[in-house]
Amino acid sequence: MNVFGILSSDDEETLTEENYCEKTNKDKPYYRPDISPISPYFAICPRCKNPIQIINLYKNTMEENITGRKGLHAKHYTQSIPGLAVFDSQSFNACSLKAKVPLGYHKIRKNDIENERLKNLVDNNRPQIRNYIREIVNIYFKNDVIDEWIDAYLNRRYYEYKGVDDRNLPYSILVTHQAINIYGQKISNTDIGLEIRDAIISKSKYFKLETEENGRIVQKEKNLCYPKIRLVLFGHKIIDEEEIIKLKMYEEIDGKEKVLMNIELDVMDCPL
Ligand SMILES: [Zn+2]
Repeated sequence: MNVFGILSSDDEETLTEENYCEKTNKDKPYYRPDISPISPYFAICPRCKNPIQIINLYKNTMEENITGRKGLHAKHYTQSIPGLAVFDSQSFNACSLKAKVPLGYHKIRKNDIENERLKNLVDNNRPQIRNYIREIVNIYFKNDVIDEWIDAYLNRRYYEYKGVDDRNLPYSILVTHQAINIYGQKISNTDIGLEIRDAIISKSKYFKLETEENGRIVQKEKNLCYPKIRLVLFGHKIIDEEEIIKLKMYEEIDGKEKVLMNIELDVMDCPL
């Protein structure tokens, strides 16, 4: 998960290094070297109120650092922590923040009420979903472009796949979509956005940025063969409550593909 809670409030706090330190003061009962000398940062799950442990609050503290990904996340801690929280296995097993099934095309959920609820959640929260999608892929797609993806998603009833829940609908829309054409789109200037820009500038044979300010993807020169530039999200996996997804960008001409970028991203919570 990438949210946390504290004892004095029911709020679901976003897990960032800054927010965690501000809300807990990195002090007792949250800072607990007595429980874990290697990763002594704890909090409570905002939904089931069980203890959670913060992993990778600082780079390289606990797990190997993978290129471009800090891996900061929290996971349920399945023992009581005196002064902080008592572990309760019943609420833990029912907790909606416990990542369960990876997103994919394998199993269909046979629960009409839940399927209908997820469908309405998508249909009634389009502006929020569009913003999440722009944030995930770091590209400023126009509203009508994303709305087309949402329409296709609803028509094909992809929300019925197991693994889809009310925290990951934007990811579900992206992984069930075919490769996304990003020609003419503008890239954001977030960390990942800058990586995408760099990959195009340093590796692309056919594309460049129109200007550094707008970050728009344009062709280097008019080409009669119409090269394509595409982005695809795939390979969602859950390892010990950490959720990862792969993002690949490639260009293609005459059926020949060249990979420009292939990275792993942390999956963020997308509550609606
Ligand atoms: Zn929980």
